[in-house]
Amino acid sequence: MTFKSESSATPSVVLNDGNVIPKLGFGVFQVPPDEAVAAVTKALEVGYRSIDTAAIYGNEAEVGRAIADFGLPRDEVYITTKLWNSEQGYDSTLRAFDESMAKLGLDYLDLYLIHWPVPRADRYVDTFRAFQALKSQGRIGSIGVSNFTVDHLERLIGETGEVPVVNQIELHPTFTQAELRAYHAEKGIATEAWSPLGQGAELKDPTIVEIAQQTGRTPAQVIIRWHLQLGNVVIPKSVTPSRIAENFDVFSFELTSEQIERISALDSGNRIGGDPETLTLGVDDLD
Ligand code: NAD
Repeated sequence: MTFKSESSATPSVVLNDGNVIPKLGFGVFQVPPDEAVAAVTKALEVGYRSIDTAAIYGNEAEVGRAIADFGLPRDEVYITTKLWNSEQGYDSTLRAFDESMAKLGLDYLDLYLIHWPVPRADRYVDTFRAFQALKSQGRIGSIGVSNFTVDHLERLIGETGEVPVVNQIELHPTFTQAELRAYHAEKGIATEAWSPLGQGAELKDPTIVEIAQQTGRTPAQVIIRWHLQLGNVVIPKSVTPSRIAENFDVFSFELTSEQIERISALDSGNRIGGDPETLTLGVDDLD
């Protein structure tokens, strides 16, 4: 099926390598393979043109199939995947990349991310060197990281001479990451927000609900709008068709600066995912 919508008009961010990423994408963490084709197809139908997956999500093949069946020209859809922790290291990264590409059914990837730094394994610099090699071969458009702290970024930039285009980090109204966002801005790294809705928990927050009532929008739309107005790239997830559509319908209203500030003031340091300093998930050969 070829289905062209106005989505080419999704606002985008110019990355520090000159490539462009849509500001709003569709995340597929915890989307089971047997639901992924339907969810991604629905997302493409309502206009998303950016899909965020990862090797560890176990749905790259289904994401690739949905995109292929939908039939858009390759350059109209932006695809991100991530290297899993167990594959860090130069040679293993090259192999893992080939596996992801075979599953996705692609010969070119828009954005490849190191999923977690796993500082105890001490392999993220070599991993990024492999990313640089793949990029110089023209197999990846842009290379970035996920869950990196300022210290990890400083070391990566210092040792490779390359500033990652994106750091995809946990970021939602109760965990606003102001310091890391300021560092990104200084270095020209785009901030991409994962669990942007706090995995749904923040939709019931009284401040969010009140602003939703004031604006005549839903709590999810208010939070996604807050991300967009902060300048974040944002990748909400849902498998429910009406919510997939609702989460994309955020380009025809604006929050006031006061509303933005009220949402930012909900920050309580409420990390809901792993801690980048200590997370070693998937790596079993540590000292
Ligand atoms: P999210 O904040 O996007 O929340 C998703 C949940 O919110 C849904 O499962 C649903 O319960 C609820 N929801 C979504 N839209 C709704 C709506 N309109 N109304 C009511 N409820 C709604 O959480 P997430 O999936 O953890 O994060 C989004 C994406 O970020 C992931 O799919 C993945 O692509 C990425 N991610 C990356 C990392 C990483 O380490 N890099 C970690 C987690 C997630």
